[in-house]
Order: sequence, then C-alpha cells, then structure tokens
Amino acid sequence: MSSHIKTSPPVTAQERSPTDNDICLEKRCADGWINDARRCESPHFNHRPLNEVSLLVIHNISLPAGCFGESYIDQLFKGCLDVSADASFIDLKGLEVSAHFLIRRDGELVQYVSCGDRAWHAGVSSYGSREGCNDFAIGIELEGTDTLAYTEQQYRELKILTLALFDAYPMLNIDRVVGHCDIAPGRKTDPGESFDWQRFKKDLS
Ligand SMILES: [Zn+2]
Repeated sequence: MSSHIKTSPPVTAQERSPTDNDICLEKRCADGWINDARRCESPHFNHRPLNEVSLLVIHNISLPAGCFGESYIDQLFKGCLDVSADASFIDLKGLEVSAHFLIRRDGELVQYVSCGDRAWHAGVSSYGSREGCNDFAIGIELEGTDTLAYTEQQYRELKILTLALFDAYPMLNIDRVVGHCDIAPGRKTDPGESFDWQRFKKDLS
C-alpha cells in the first residue's frame, strides 16, 4: 500500500514559502472573527435561529453606485450613513443592512458581523426549499458593480477568505457558494456578469 508513496526530502520552514493554505490557517478564528480583517462592528445583526452556517453568498456593493474607495459602505453597515452626502443616498435612509465581510478593490478585508451571528444581507431569499437565507448564510460583499471586472486582489482575498471559512464551518463547501442573484432571482442581480465564477471555483479546487 505504501509502495507507491514517494518520500521527498524534508523541507524546512526556512526553505518553504507560505502557501495560500498557510495564510488560510493564520486567518482562521474560532470566535467567528477573522484575525487580520479590519474589524468594523455593525449593530445590524441578530442570532442565528439554528446556529447553522451552511451557505456562502457573494454580493457586490458600491456607494455611490460605481464609486469606490469611500467610507460610505462602512457607514451604511454601521447605521451612521449621512444620507445628505449624495443625492442617491436618500433611498438608503433608515435602511438597516449589513454583511459579514467586504472585500475592497485593493483587497482590504473588512468584517462587520461575527460569522456566528446572522447578518442582514440576503433579504427575501430562498435556497432550495429553504427561505430566509440570512439564517444560515455568510454574506461577502465585493466592492464593485455588475459590469466592471473585479480586481486581482479581490479574487485573491476572496479565495483565502473562502478557504478559511470552509475550514471553520464544515457544512460549507464549493457547492454551497452562490450569488445573491441565485437566492433572490428577479430581485437581485449581484455579483453580476462581471464576476468570474469559473475562475473563483477553480481557485478553490
Ligand atoms: Zn446583494
């Protein structure tokens, strides 16, 4: 049985450069927070009714639409968006939403809600026969739009984050990753045609 296994010379830590899996392990955090994410806590969450994490939902967001790099997304999720800052924000007045994560255009990872809690990102939604995906999903926002290509840094960070989440939550796997458009068809279109699902899924395998 062991005759087919070739043994390689031992590799020391000094000789080996860190792989994505190593980085993934460094990122793992038992209390629902990713170690090296910028923590920006949102009051918009509540408890998961079944304590279950079994779905990953990919979204996009930009505020104002098509503009990047501002702090308005943080403000929206924290419930302190100044709606007078842009004419388009009037529709967001009083809106209580959040996601667990945001990956900005430069690859910065921000976390707003513990993965152990229920963030408010999916809205009216269904996965298979189950409704209310927020109960059992983790929401990841990519700073972007449906039509503009996401950045290399975003794909890289998304891969590392997703692998860390797979590691932390055994019910998650490559078949349990969907777009917001998949769980709220006709109502939501994100992450849009600009998201390269083939590349992302290949990155994970
Ligand atoms: Zn969405």
